[in-house]
Amino acid sequence: MFDSLKKELSRRALLHRVGFGFMAVGVTGTVGNIIKPAHTLAQAGPAPSNEPSLPPEKKLGWAVVGLGKFATQQIMPSFAECKRSKLVALVSGDRAKAERYAQQYGVNPKNIYNYQSYDSIRNNPEVDVIYIILPNGMHAEYSIRGAQAGKHIMCEKPMANTVEECQAMIDAAKKANRKLMIAYRAQYEPYNLATIKLAQSGKLGKLKLITSDHGRTLNPKDPADIWRMQKKLAGGGSLYDIGIYSLQATRYITGEEPVAISAMMYSTSGDPRFREVEENVNFVLRFPSGVLANCTSSYGYSDTKRIQVFGSDAVLELDPATDYYKHRLMIKDKNGNQEQKIQEKNQFALEIDHLSESIIQNKQPKTSGEEGLQDVKLMQLIYEAARTGKTIKV
Ligand code: NAD
Repeated sequence: MFDSLKKELSRRALLHRVGFGFMAVGVTGTVGNIIKPAHTLAQAGPAPSNEPSLPPEKKLGWAVVGLGKFATQQIMPSFAECKRSKLVALVSGDRAKAERYAQQYGVNPKNIYNYQSYDSIRNNPEVDVIYIILPNGMHAEYSIRGAQAGKHIMCEKPMANTVEECQAMIDAAKKANRKLMIAYRAQYEPYNLATIKLAQSGKLGKLKLITSDHGRTLNPKDPADIWRMQKKLAGGGSLYDIGIYSLQATRYITGEEPVAISAMMYSTSGDPRFREVEENVNFVLRFPSGVLANCTSSYGYSDTKRIQVFGSDAVLELDPATDYYKHRLMIKDKNGNQEQKIQEKNQFALEIDHLSESIIQNKQPKTSGEEGLQDVKLMQLIYEAARTGKTIKV
């Protein structure tokens, strides 16, 4: 199994480099802009872009599937800032909850579905795109059913539990001639885009090392964390949930794919939270250009979302790096420490509109299904490296 995985990863490395070349060119005008005051997301002030909004009747209609914490606190409020997308339908197992949100967001109650009636969304011409915000283990089924209903799909990260599920999602979208995008919000967020530009333009000198740390404390009393303790619904532990940000960062900052992986994993023994999923994973990646990446992922330490990029001339520190807002970017070089101030934007509105725009222009979204599949493949190899204690050549 791992031989075919490695072959696919090498092929993907080539595609990925081509893709990121395009992306780096597309990042302009972010560094050095004046920062606006930080906002909470629901009020995230600055509009996503300076482009005019489409009139409401021209905006694409979106359905949100799963009305949990992330959907209700971050995604649904962000539609107010979208210029090409509007919220028109809700899918939930809890009718009363869905009705409350429908009223709040002006969704017609006839556009409320449950998990049984979900497939009949095919008969609703108001819905163009379905956004899957369910536990990870449900992403594949609901993405595939959505594509089969003739709708474009946005799916939350991680794409799915297994490589096979990811491939089935890609195949289903292709067969239905629909777009499939993975919601990697950091790739639409201005501070991360500025980091990519600074790293890839040589402003830091030759890149040598990236460190990326993502951690939080898993709370067994939080309903949103209960399914995260179950392997079937979560796919994995901290790596699948937040370590994926560490992994993603190394790939989008270098614009390369790793060629070697080593890893170590540890879960506090006897801690009931980690009966099925892991607590800590540290992994090291080597990239073709010689960049090494030291990454950590933990459900055991307090909130951390940090990226550091070490070049021969300067060190870039992004901390917080992958939060919802209030990012902070420092450049440390021979002239001392300078903070780079960039205008915060609503990254959720940006990524939602990116998919709508990709549909309107019939283009492949930047963070396609293949991008999601690549992370799931690499995470499986990280687990394999940790289990065997061997460095895996990709
Ligand atoms: P959550 O538990 O708050 O939401 C999950 C929703 O799915 C709930 O409404 C729940 O009722 C529903 N559900 C349906 N069937 C279920 C079942 N069998 N078991 C449990 N819940 C079921 O979780 P969340 O934190 O909102 O995460 C949802 C997805 O969003 C996950 O894939 C997660 O990785 C992703 N997420 C992404 C970000 C990001 O920044 N991109 C942040 C948080 C979560």
